[in-house]
Amino acid sequence: MTGTEDLDGDSSRRHLRVVVVGGGAAGFFGAITCAEALQGRGSVMILERGANVLQKVKISGGGRCNVTHSCFEPKELAKRYPRGGPALIGAFHRFQAADTVKWFEARGVVLKTEADGRMFPTTDQSQTIINCLTNASRDAGVELRTGCGVERVERKSEGGFRLHLSASGTLDCDALLLATGGAKAADVLASSLGHTIEPPVPSLFTFHITDKRLEGLSGLAVERATVSVAGTKLKETGPVLITHWGLSGPGILRLSAWGARELAAVNYQFKLRVNWLPEHNFDSITALAQQQRGLTGAKRVQNVSLAGLPSRLWERLVATAGVAEQTQWAGLNKAQTQSLARLLVESEFAVTGKSMNKEEFVTCGGVRLAEVDFKTMQSRVCPGLYFAGELLDIDGITGGFNFQAAWTTGWLAGNAMAERLAAKQV
Ligand SMILES: Cc1cc2nc3c(=O)[nH]c(=O)nc-3n(C[C@H](O)[C@H](O)[C@H](O)COP(=O)(O)OP(=O)(O)OC[C@H]3O[C@@H](n4cnc5c(N)ncnc54)[C@H](O)[C@@H]3O)c2cc1C
Repeated sequence: MTGTEDLDGDSSRRHLRVVVVGGGAAGFFGAITCAEALQGRGSVMILERGANVLQKVKISGGGRCNVTHSCFEPKELAKRYPRGGPALIGAFHRFQAADTVKWFEARGVVLKTEADGRMFPTTDQSQTIINCLTNASRDAGVELRTGCGVERVERKSEGGFRLHLSASGTLDCDALLLATGGAKAADVLASSLGHTIEPPVPSLFTFHITDKRLEGLSGLAVERATVSVAGTKLKETGPVLITHWGLSGPGILRLSAWGARELAAVNYQFKLRVNWLPEHNFDSITALAQQQRGLTGAKRVQNVSLAGLPSRLWERLVATAGVAEQTQWAGLNKAQTQSLARLLVESEFAVTGKSMNKEEFVTCGGVRLAEVDFKTMQSRVCPGLYFAGELLDIDGITGGFNFQAAWTTGWLAGNAMAERLAAKQV
């Protein structure tokens, strides 16, 4: 593209234009919402620097796209965001998970809910969501340019913006939505327009642990464990999965999300405490062992696990407590009982690093929320500039909450930009 494009065929009336930078979930939702609301009274264009749009949607949820979560109360929904929760309460009152479900259903995509509340398209294919978004944007008349990155943005003295494109040339617009995702480089545009960027660090990761207690147990899932970080208030209860590199599962991922900044500050080297039986503490588990001695005194300790702990993990902890294979419950001495109790409810592991989760990961940090009006997603610093999606300092725990933030902020920005253009046309 060469030169500056800002006029339509009718030179007596300026053609009003919205440009959305970023062809991801938030950009598409913003562009579709805006174009549908404008009904032809101005144009909407998405500029995407990559060759293809919606690439994260494609790989999301292990290729199934966890679109949202079946949490339909705005205040409850907002609690799932380690960063951005309070700002999102009002936004969710306008567009929340139930609205997402209706939005997709109105366009022919039915979502189903899994036992843990995660919602996926019934096809179990992220391509269904991609097709829905690309069809809806085409039907609404959104123009799409791929291979077209925005390198620099200038505010025009008469209002509006001039975008400098990687494909050479410039493009002018009256309202600008930045939906450039969590990549560090994208923040350049927002900061050049006067915004503060909270430094990006990863969220939703798993923990590296090398420890004999976990060796050979890869793939073993414990339905409910409490995990906490020594010396902090970070604590979560949920499913924990033993992997060949350490620990994963929803409980660990949630801990990583809430602790994203604190754990980055210690370079992911910290002491993790695990209570494998969260309904118990040291005293109650010692009492339970005592009771078990009376009930199954003649049975081998390693054959009767306490409180339903998976048998492979139980056997490992029994051996770690120094209890010989043949030891019967009746023969378990006080020191062994205490050692076993500590391993069950107060195990400590040295975490030495992290790995990103394959199913879903996200960056925390981004445009400072105090600088954005969450009724409209408009910048408080630069009129006519809007934000949506992961570019903002918002991130959710795993389970569909990150896309929900993208849908909500995209929808709010799209409507507000349409209103802005409509007001300009009067
Ligand atoms: C492997 C993986 C799986 C995931 N699974 C889930 C899930 O199942 N459920 C869930 O809720 N969340 C999931 N997430 C998180 C979710 O994908 C993101 O929160 C969401 O995609 C953010 O949307 P976005 O539109 O803000 O950003 P993106 O999807 O990152 O889109 C931003 C777009 O902007 C473009 N861009 C950037 N800079 C420029 C520029 N200067 N000019 C032009 N274009 C530009 C980028 O190329 C990109 O296409 C997952 C993330 C990953 C990495």
